[in-house]
Amino acid sequence: MITIFEKSKGGVSAIEILKLDVPDTGRIPKELERDFLELPEVSEIEVIRHYIQLSRRNFGVDLGFYPLGSCTMKYSPKINEEIANFEGFSGLHPYVPLSFSQGSLKLMYGLSSFLKEISGMDAVSLQPAAGAHGELTGIMIMKVYFEKKQEKRTKIMIPDSAHGTNPATVTMCGFTCMQVKSSSKGSLDIDDLKAKIDSDTVGLMLTNPNTLGIFDENILEIIKIVHDNGSLVYCDGANLNANMGIVRVGDLGFDMIHFNLHKTFSTPHGCGGPGSGPLGVKEYLAEFLPNPTIIEEKNGGRESYKLDYSKNSIGKVKAFYGNFTVLVKAYAYIMGLGAEGIKNAAENAVLNANYMMSKLKKHYNLPYDRICQHEFVIDDSRMENNVTTNDIAKRLLDYGFHAPTVYFPLIVKGAMMIEPTETESKETLDRFCDVMIKIKEESKTDQDKVKNAPWKMPVKRVDAVKAARELDVVFNK
Ligand SMILES: *Cc1c(COP(=O)(O)O)cnc(C)c1O
Repeated sequence: MITIFEKSKGGVSAIEILKLDVPDTGRIPKELERDFLELPEVSEIEVIRHYIQLSRRNFGVDLGFYPLGSCTMKYSPKINEEIANFEGFSGLHPYVPLSFSQGSLKLMYGLSSFLKEISGMDAVSLQPAAGAHGELTGIMIMKVYFEKKQEKRTKIMIPDSAHGTNPATVTMCGFTCMQVKSSSKGSLDIDDLKAKIDSDTVGLMLTNPNTLGIFDENILEIIKIVHDNGSLVYCDGANLNANMGIVRVGDLGFDMIHFNLHKTFSTPHGCGGPGSGPLGVKEYLAEFLPNPTIIEEKNGGRESYKLDYSKNSIGKVKAFYGNFTVLVKAYAYIMGLGAEGIKNAAENAVLNANYMMSKLKKHYNLPYDRICQHEFVIDDSRMENNVTTNDIAKRLLDYGFHAPTVYFPLIVKGAMMIEPTETESKETLDRFCDVMIKIKEESKTDQDKVKNAPWKMPVKRVDAVKAARELDVVFNK
């Protein structure tokens, strides 16, 4: 495969640039003037073939099973894309006066209401563009919350099973991370929490269920310990697919949560977005949310929607209202499923994960052997001939599956984190388990086949370190 620039030959063009048919005033601002712009010169069919060929080397949920733990790579119904493409949504300019954009404001208000209901929070901002961005917004709010109380606190506690964005967020906000250990059962070690929490603690960031797919059975006690210390509890809501419609984090006592709309609420993700990571907070933190939020007013039974600016807001975190079309898709998805459907999705996600876990644990080591939520973690410690998680992941590609998340969470050596999601059939789950069992067999009888996989991919086994350090997109020259 070569780049489109290498396919370029002089004098060929896929488009015809028309001659200027108005007087040339010569008034292009100096800074916008270009002597020469290098564009590939290729015909239309060459452009089409180039990009179709590239797309066929790619893998996505629309092509096969994608059990990438923590990422919730579930199928997103295509109707939601269609709705997001409605002219009234996609063609609307964000500067249009409020009287012309009531429908879109109503949709965003409605989505905020759904998210409040699902999470048990009191107020929502739709602005953050990703989960990590929701975290940043939330921790900035913790910062101003304590500033307003004139308390100086500097440390945020994070379990050792946390996603990397949690410590990154804490550091970005100028706080210090305090790591809390996991217990032998895979939940938070309460003794370690008690030993480390003190008057300098801003709060705790917790993913529940955590990245081992375990719902923390001590969650009420944990939240009480943190609150008794005057600190706040952040819920990393990336795993909401396991318990939406079943348990509300606000009822458990969490002070805030971000939602990954691109994981839980039907936006395809990967390849850099766009995503959306709304933040929900309790009443006492609502005044700090990014400006503006949307409010509903009722005049004689007729609703209208307005923007509300709080003087204590942390400010804006994203232009306008966030990634609007992602919000449309989430709204359509929630409306489509309804309350019962949302709950069913979570229940089936959990059922699918437990089904696979019980099949695979006969063949692979399961470090935390207990009922899981929507994902579970196995490892490579029972493999023979030094076959590693990396080898298994590469061999799965030959069988047409995307690999699970590997080597994460960090507390499990050689981890493989498997998340089937609710949208996969029993046949698909069985096929994946059969292949995993087959790879285990291959590693005994035909180890080279596993260790040098993949064989069927356009790119064979690469030197991953070199590929990361010296990125060269022109392969097979
Ligand atoms: C995906 C994920 C995040 C970060 O969300 P992004 O939308 O990728 O920024 C944070 N925590 C957990 C547990 C996640 O799985």
